[in-house]
Amino acid sequence: MLVVGAGIMGVGIAQVAAQAGHTVLLFDARDGAAEQAREKLAKTFEGLVAKGKLSADDAAQTLSRIEPIASLDAAAGVRLVVEAIVEKLDAKRGLFQQLEAIIATDCVLASNTSSISVTAIANGLQHPQRLVGMHFFNPVPLMKLVEVVSGLQTAAAVAAAIFDLSKDWGKVPVSARSTPGFIVNRIARPYYAEALALLQEQAAAPAVLDACLRAAGFRMGPCELMDLIGHDTNFSVTQSVFEANFYDKRYVPSLVQRELVDGGLLGRKSGRGFYDYA
Ligand code: NAD
Repeated sequence: MLVVGAGIMGVGIAQVAAQAGHTVLLFDARDGAAEQAREKLAKTFEGLVAKGKLSADDAAQTLSRIEPIASLDAAAGVRLVVEAIVEKLDAKRGLFQQLEAIIATDCVLASNTSSISVTAIANGLQHPQRLVGMHFFNPVPLMKLVEVVSGLQTAAAVAAAIFDLSKDWGKVPVSARSTPGFIVNRIARPYYAEALALLQEQAAAPAVLDACLRAAGFRMGPCELMDLIGHDTNFSVTQSVFEANFYDKRYVPSLVQRELVDGGLLGRKSGRGFYDYA
């Protein structure tokens, strides 16, 4: 199989697929990113081996199944693609159209999009019925849920195959129709939005919001969670849900978050967001 996008999610998806026994080709548009992702995984596995959570043998075998590739042409023979690139419709559409010229007609195309219409991504494909949403959650190796998202043209057999595959990978899949933000991101939008509104009103510092929500029983507070997700991705998801709901005021993106994005303070992945990770 092929994973496109070797960022936060792509690395996690590659890990889970390789642990399930797949040979995983890994491609990223940024030079060297796929190799760096594999090196990062090697470090993760070292840590797991040191803690006794993974045998050295399993770690070596899993890693040997992950192969960074420098060109999509090297993926001509794959039967499954999971896309985890930037949360932009044009980029995703362009990638899948490019892939259709390379891969076989029966290869399944899965998108890890958090919010973008699966119907819209498929528009323009020669075989739109083979495109399906396969929405993992962060961190992929730990989070069990996968939303299997069908667009208007997704074939039932394709959605069923991805549902079963998710189970084989130890996940808990749920079927959803392609609506803006699907299930979890639709429900979670107000959670982020209220936290960002409180910050804009200077009601309290991020650490205070996080401590309160943790004390209320949430595993993570909203600010540390947005830092984990990446502010660029979280902002794009809000924009996408806002636009798809005809600019419904409930989903207005946040100025506070836009400033973080504009400043490159994307969270953990850039070393700084609400918190400093350097
Ligand atoms: P990321 O910024 O960590 O990684 C994205 C990677 O894609 C980057 O390495 C970038 O170089 C690469 N890329 C961009 N355009 C490309 C292209 N055209 N071809 C190949 N590679 C390209 O982002 P992420 O957090 O991993 O998110 C990826 C996708 O997963 C998005 O659609 C996002 O909405 C979704 N998602 C993210 C989370 C999360 O918590 N971060 C959770 C669920 C789903």
